Amino acid sequence: MQDTTNELRRAVSTISGMSLDHTEGLQKLGIETVADLLKHLPLRFEEHHGGVTIEEATTILGENDRNPDLVTIEGEVAEIRPIRGWKRSKARVEVSLEDETGTIKINWFNQPWIAKKLHPGMPIRVHGSLSMYKGSVQMTNPRWEEIDNEECTSKAEGGLCAVYPANEFVTSTVIAKAISEVIDDALPQIEDHFSAEERKELDMPELREAYRKVHNPQDLNESKEGRRRISFDELFLLQLGVMLKRHQRQTTLNAPALCWDEKIKNRIEARVPFTLTESQQKVIEEIAYDVTKTIPMNRLLQGDVGSGKTVVALHLMLMAVVGKAQAALMAPTELLAEQHYGTIVDLLQDSSVSVGLLTSSLTTNDRKALIEKISNGEVDIVVGTHALLTTDVVFSNIAVSIVDEQHRFGVHQRATLRNKRDDDNTVPHTLVMTATPIPRTLSLTIFGDLDVSTISGLPPGRSPITTRLVLPEDASKVYSYFRGQVDKGQQGYVVVPLVEDSDSGMKAVLSHAESLEREYFQGKHVAFVHGRMNSEEREKTMTAFREGKVDVLVATTVIEVGVDVANATMMVIEHADRFGLAQLHQLRGRVGRGELAGVCALIASPTTNDAIERLNAIVQTTDGFRIAERDLEIRGPGELFGAKQSGIAPFKSARLPRDLQLLQLARRNAVDYIQNDPLLKNSELLRKRLFSKYGESLGLGDVG
Ligand code: ADP
Ligand code: MG
Repeated sequence: MQDTTNELRRAVSTISGMSLDHTEGLQKLGIETVADLLKHLPLRFEEHHGGVTIEEATTILGENDRNPDLVTIEGEVAEIRPIRGWKRSKARVEVSLEDETGTIKINWFNQPWIAKKLHPGMPIRVHGSLSMYKGSVQMTNPRWEEIDNEECTSKAEGGLCAVYPANEFVTSTVIAKAISEVIDDALPQIEDHFSAEERKELDMPELREAYRKVHNPQDLNESKEGRRRISFDELFLLQLGVMLKRHQRQTTLNAPALCWDEKIKNRIEARVPFTLTESQQKVIEEIAYDVTKTIPMNRLLQGDVGSGKTVVALHLMLMAVVGKAQAALMAPTELLAEQHYGTIVDLLQDSSVSVGLLTSSLTTNDRKALIEKISNGEVDIVVGTHALLTTDVVFSNIAVSIVDEQHRFGVHQRATLRNKRDDDNTVPHTLVMTATPIPRTLSLTIFGDLDVSTISGLPPGRSPITTRLVLPEDASKVYSYFRGQVDKGQQGYVVVPLVEDSDSGMKAVLSHAESLEREYFQGKHVAFVHGRMNSEEREKTMTAFREGKVDVLVATTVIEVGVDVANATMMVIEHADRFGLAQLHQLRGRVGRGELAGVCALIASPTTNDAIERLNAIVQTTDGFRIAERDLEIRGPGELFGAKQSGIAPFKSARLPRDLQLLQLARRNAVDYIQNDPLLKNSELLRKRLFSKYGESLGLGDVG
């Protein structure tokens, strides 16, 4: 909309009735122009029971002490009392409102500024629901507006009343007024990027009609129709960007074609100490099919914690080595990089493959020597952390780049590993792996240009994990049980949120390890790891744990991803309400990795609804996909998978997973568009809108 003529580009400060405060308030909502204002959509619509007198309000309530219906009361402010609460959120403003028939108390909680906006004698209109408190009728947190004598008719009297996101400086009512002020002149200037034919096919209203419907609907159905079009456009534009990017990768970039046949397959499999599951074999074939081509692979491998992704990665790396090229595996933590390095070195013992480990804790000299070997091709496989991404790390000939636990990196921090050959069009095949399965809705959006392979199920012989929510006062039962398991030769983890004691009252690694040893694990070996230890110490402790010399490992979330010790059966998570869903699932995945059954105890007394929901979700299911979907529902997609860091603006209208069907429609249409007209040469307006919205965040800059 930013690309049409003046009315849409007009500054909101020039709309009649806008004070400086209002303009500032709008600015805080990201609204500078009339176009921005129209894109500011109502949160919801309220249906009001017209105006009532205060006396009538009392009778509406009748015997019940609450009535959810909204009523509107007009009156004069008689008294204003700001009341400080025992905590900030309990502070309120108490106002007596009078009309000819009586007085009613209004309370606004946690909005102290209201006291400054009102003055005795001021005529106001309040919309809210009534309740009975200590024998008198009152209203809590109603929306309110000053009664403007010139404008007596309010939409609030019957009909639909739009409620806009607002703030301290600008109320929903002011926003609604500003919109009605400009909408008639602005709408005709909105150009549609779809033709009438396309709209008919999609069963969508014209764009300007959609904006009319969302702001000024005749009924709720109309508002839905308007919103459907606007949500569709949001989803479609992102899909279009993602598809354009995909097209660009497939047509302009090359990767080395690798070989894959029965002989190579058998040679690699011979190194693996177990039989691959069917699912592992299937994804290996999918990957192998991709990398035998010169189109760069861009694939996501998802598989729940413990599903065996590492061995798949190993296959791919060895394909590169067979092809006389190099491979890199990047992990989010040193601990994990070290573990991968150890696994790979073990599997490749007495082979001629050379493996290097590059993390930031190498000494300057060791690092220099390794980088030298990487650039002259003496190292075949390089395992590392993001230290691999430093500009002085240049490969002689890299064919495969793998990123483990992708969700721990930002979306766009995908490995860009460099080759010595100065050829911008040659890139390695890329595989990103994640144990936090990406819900279908998201795999269609920000990860839309990835092909997805999924390992379903776990390798055979795993016992299910039992998860229990335990109140802090019952923690001793958990630890006594834990002690019993240790006496049987098993091991386990205790995860706490902090490294060092603080005044937060939360448990910290060092002190908790000490008190556990004293109270429950006398004569046993309790050790700890956390992110602030140097990696040598940490590695020593981890090795001891792996070898069974440590019984109880107290840790922060450094052990969240990847750590693999089959004899560990107990996972205790203290202050479990402090952790995210995906994180809890990851932590739980550290146990039950062998034949012994795992137990996960979540110690918490959750207080917020959000925390209760999260903990229930984790207790009820061990299916990582379901958990990821729940996480998406509870937190919203913006926070997941580094979408925030990626700079992709959150949707304003579309909501996932709710709008999944619309997303699929958008996806299909975007695919068609790019197929017919890859550079959008015939859709000038669409192209312009796409580039101005996503050009930067999706890195479309280099597309024609
Ligand atoms: P994740 O997918 O979480 O990275 P890993 O690759 O670490 O899982 O594998 C978890 C454990 O399962 C490892 O100890 C690995 O050796 C083992 N494993 C993987 N595949 C199989 C299989 N097909 N049969 C038996 N054990 C397997
Ligand atoms: Mg792993």
